[in-house]
Amino acid sequence: MVHAKTSHQLIAEYQPGQDESHQRELTLLHDLPLSLQSGHMFVVYQPKVSLLGRTAHSAEALIRWQHPQLGFVPPDEFIRLAEHSGLISRVTDWMIAQVIDQLAAWRQQGIELTVAVNLSAYDLLSSDLPGQIAALLAQHQLPASALALEVTEGAVMQDPEQVIQNLQTLREMGIELAIDDFGTGQSSLAYLKRLPVHEVKIDRAFVKDIEHNHNDALIVQTTTELAHGLGLLVTAEGLENLAGLAKLQAAGIDKVQGYYFAKPLKAADLTGWLTEFQQNNARWFPEVS
Ligand code: C2E
Ligand code: MG
Ligand code: MG
Ligand code: MG
Repeated sequence: MVHAKTSHQLIAEYQPGQDESHQRELTLLHDLPLSLQSGHMFVVYQPKVSLLGRTAHSAEALIRWQHPQLGFVPPDEFIRLAEHSGLISRVTDWMIAQVIDQLAAWRQQGIELTVAVNLSAYDLLSSDLPGQIAALLAQHQLPASALALEVTEGAVMQDPEQVIQNLQTLREMGIELAIDDFGTGQSSLAYLKRLPVHEVKIDRAFVKDIEHNHNDALIVQTTTELAHGLGLLVTAEGLENLAGLAKLQAAGIDKVQGYYFAKPLKAADLTGWLTEFQQNNARWFPEVS
């Protein structure tokens, strides 16, 4: 079990003379709660393309922080800090609320997307989250199938019993669940068997060089076969070029997410991209056009 520190504790522990990066961490931690309210944080959406029907009905929501003094702060940097300081639940609550608002707005325009939010280990260590999500969905009259959640294997290992219990509850509510960054954690295969998830997302590390790395191609193909054997869907993350797409298709991948199709986009740009993809998807699959 992890004992998260509050930002006040971290600030209290600050020793004068520590380096610049420590100063940056303190600034980020200090400014994070306010930035959530002041419009410096926003959400971008990256489509997931289904290879079988060449359709795009789902996307991943990713947080962005444009800090007024520091500029763009990458999520890999501040999410880790938020996790260690106990601020992560504020980030997660904010993301889920933003995404649910956006999903409701899209439904009013007739756009039915399923959007995945990333969770941290800490979000699943208490049993609050499923109830909070159920209340928000009901309030916006959204079906549970509009929301999906992505968890990493690392998240699960913090407290497997509690995490699995929460995932089970979320699954019973009808929310789609995915294991994120698959292949980079520990005990991958053991957890694949135990976790009540629908989907496995193969990490970009195995996808980015797949067109010329035979080992990566083999890993992706074998993982896909294994996941399919367990009744799971497989998404490949981080596809950047057409040559890689052919390899993913050959490996039997179900869905693909990556710059090749689209970078993470603001909500309004995503709807534009979806229209373009629907009308002209031979652009992304040129070999059959
Ligand atoms: P992730 O959940 O694995 O998200 C996928 C990351 O890969 C995103 O980075 C996305 O922009 C990037 N990506 C997608 N396709 C490509 C590609 O073709 N090439 C390259 N080079 N990158 C690609 P991003 O947005 O920087 O997020 C990094 C990580 O930060 C995420 O990895 C996730 O672990 C975390 N994160 C982002 N937003 C949230 C959030 O709202 N909550 C939590 N808890 N974590 C988040
Ligand atoms: Mg993710
Ligand atoms: Mg990932
Ligand atoms: Mg990641």
